[in-house]
This record gives sequence, structure tokens and C-alpha cells, in this order.
Amino acid sequence: MKPKGTTPGGGSGRRPIVVANWKMYLTAAEAVTRVQQLLTESLPDRVDLVMCPSTTALAGIGQRLAGHTIQLGAQDVFWAAPGPHTGEVSAADLRSLGVRYVLVGHSEHRASAHEHNDVVHRKALAALGHGLSPIVCVGESREDRHQHRHHHVITQQLDAAIRNLPPPDERQELLVAYEPIWAIGTGQPATAADAQEMADVIHRSLLEVFGRDVVARRTRVLYGGSVTPANVGEFVEGQSVHGVLVGTAGLPAAGLGSIVRAVASR
Ligand code: PEP
Repeated sequence: MKPKGTTPGGGSGRRPIVVANWKMYLTAAEAVTRVQQLLTESLPDRVDLVMCPSTTALAGIGQRLAGHTIQLGAQDVFWAAPGPHTGEVSAADLRSLGVRYVLVGHSEHRASAHEHNDVVHRKALAALGHGLSPIVCVGESREDRHQHRHHHVITQQLDAAIRNLPPPDERQELLVAYEPIWAIGTGQPATAADAQEMADVIHRSLLEVFGRDVVARRTRVLYGGSVTPANVGEFVEGQSVHGVLVGTAGLPAAGLGSIVRAVASR
């Protein structure tokens, strides 16, 4: 049931957040060097920053980030308990490395691993069960948008991922990243208006599942797709989008620093 009189978005009071997804671009050693460069950047306190390097870099980066406010995130997690699952990484293992956030359902991973919504749901459930904060990624294809199916597709993906999830506890949150597939890595971002509109669609689904109190205190909605230091301000300008998920433009430490400062200046 949607609470009456609740406006979509309702973003006031949430801290802005930047999540950097380094995908599979860097070796573990290169990623640690980038983080050392990042720590020399001036990073304003009023923005949360989460680094999501490759799995191999998590331990090394976790050590470099000790004592800093920058949080560690993983790019994926397997849903099962530790056991006979060759090639997978458990939520418990990620937690033991100091990981706090984990991407689930990124469109690149959905495509390469043929991952369906039910698997995304299990991963989000496993993350919440082990003290991690899932970043559930949803996004429509260019074809979906041309056919005006984007609201339907996003609502379906999100509902399948979050239905019956327990609410995040006081040390956790649930992030949802709206990442239209056609905007990822293409240099063709969505408009800020499109991002706000889809964030409102996401917000309505969150309200139906978790209710107003949990949504206000334990959820944030992000936009991702060709975000740069030049355009990031437009996305976080309104009330509905609370942060960004950044790929390519966040690979150089200076680029990521510029994005964090641009978000802070809004
Ligand atoms: C991403 O990988 O989630 C992403 C948004 O990539 P890019 O910023 O390169 O579009």
C-alpha cells in the first residue's frame, strides 16, 4: 500500500553519495595506487564516497582506507552460504574484508552472467543478511525506452529484486541505482529530468515495499550512466536523486575527486 500524501523523491535530509565502479579496468596493484592518489585529493566531508574495485583489490584497498571515511564496495556477491560454489565470493567473505556495500544486478553483469531478477533478489537478500548494504542496479534498454516501456521495466526489475526483503537495519541501507543501459559507457547520459522521473518511479516501489519511515531513513536513489564532473551537478540538483554511480569518469583519481567536489557544491 502506498502511504497517502507521500510525494515521490522526498530526498531532503539525505547525504549525497558517490559510488565509483572501477569495473574490470585495473589490476589489484593499479587500483591500490589509484586509491593512494585519491587520498591526496581534497574530498569534502559532506559527500559519502564508496569505492568498488575488482574483487582482487578489495583486501589491499581495504587496508589503505583504514581510518578514512571512504567506504569499500564490491562489484558482485554470490547468494549462497560458504560452500561448494567454484569461482564465487560469499557475502560473509566480503564482510570479513571490511566491505560495506555491494553492487547487485549491474546491467553488465546481468548480461555477461545471464543473471535474472530472481538471482538479483537472492544476492540483495544475502547482502542484507550479512551486514552489507546492497546497491540494486536497474535500467532499461534503448528499445524499452523507444517503446515507452521504461516505467514498466524498471518497476518490474525493482519489485522482483526487493519484494520480501527485510528492511535494512540501523547499520545498513538499500541503494537503488537507476542506470539506463543505453547511457552506460556511451557518453550519452540521460537528461536530469529523465533521471528525476525514474527516481520517482523507484521511490514509489520502495515506499510500497518498505513504508515511509524505512525509505526516508535507510534508502537512497542514485543515477548512473556517463556521469562526468561537468554534468554531475544536474543529476543531484533535485530532491529525488541522492547520488551517482560513476564508471569511466571515476577511474582517474582526479576525475573522481572532481565529481565528489561538484556534488558537494550543490
Ligand atoms: C557504471 O558502470 O555503472 C557506469 C555508470 O559507467 P559509466 O559511468 O562509464 O557510464
